[in-house]
Amino acid sequence: MSITPQTIPPFGPGAKSRPNPARVLVYSALLVILDFVSGPQYAVSVFFVLPVIYAAWYQGFRFACFLAAGLSIMRFMSNWAWGFPMSHDTALVNNVLRAVTLILVAFLTEQLASQMRALKTRQERLESQLPICPECGLACRHDGQWVPLEDGTMNLSKTTPPKSLCPECERRNYDVQPG
Ligand SMILES: [Zn+2]
Repeated sequence: MSITPQTIPPFGPGAKSRPNPARVLVYSALLVILDFVSGPQYAVSVFFVLPVIYAAWYQGFRFACFLAAGLSIMRFMSNWAWGFPMSHDTALVNNVLRAVTLILVAFLTEQLASQMRALKTRQERLESQLPICPECGLACRHDGQWVPLEDGTMNLSKTTPPKSLCPECERRNYDVQPG
C-alpha cells in the first residue's frame, strides 16, 4: 500500500500558488493614500517597508525594486502636492534615500527567501528518504515505535520503507474507505 497524500499547506517562497501581485499593489496604493491624507508631519511612509518585504518574499527582487521605486516616487509626488513643506531638493534627497533603503530591504528579504526555499527543498529530499509518515510526520524508530522526528535521541528504523504510513494513519485511511 502506498498512500501518500500531501497534507502540507503551501508555505513561503517555495509555495506553488504564489499570492497575486495585484494584492500587494492595492495595499501599496492604500498606504500611499493614507500617507498623503495624514500629511507631511506624520511618517506613515515608514510602513512602505511592509509591501516591499511581502513583494520580495513572494514575487522576487525585481518586482520588489519596482515597488520600492514606485512608492518613493509617489512619496515625492505627495511632497509636490503638499507644496514642498521642506524644499524641493530635501524632498528629492529624502526619497532617493527612501528608495535605496527599501531596495536594500528587498535584497535582504529575497536572500532570506531563497535560503528558505533551498532549505525546504533539502528537507523534503532528506525526509523522502527516511521512514516518516507522510500524513502526520511521525518517524519510525528502530524498535518499531512511531515518535516525533524532533526526538533527536532515536535511531530510525532501517527496515521500514520511506514514506510509510504509521499504524494510526493507516487505520484512519482504512476507516474512511467507502463501503
Ligand atoms: Zn501517521
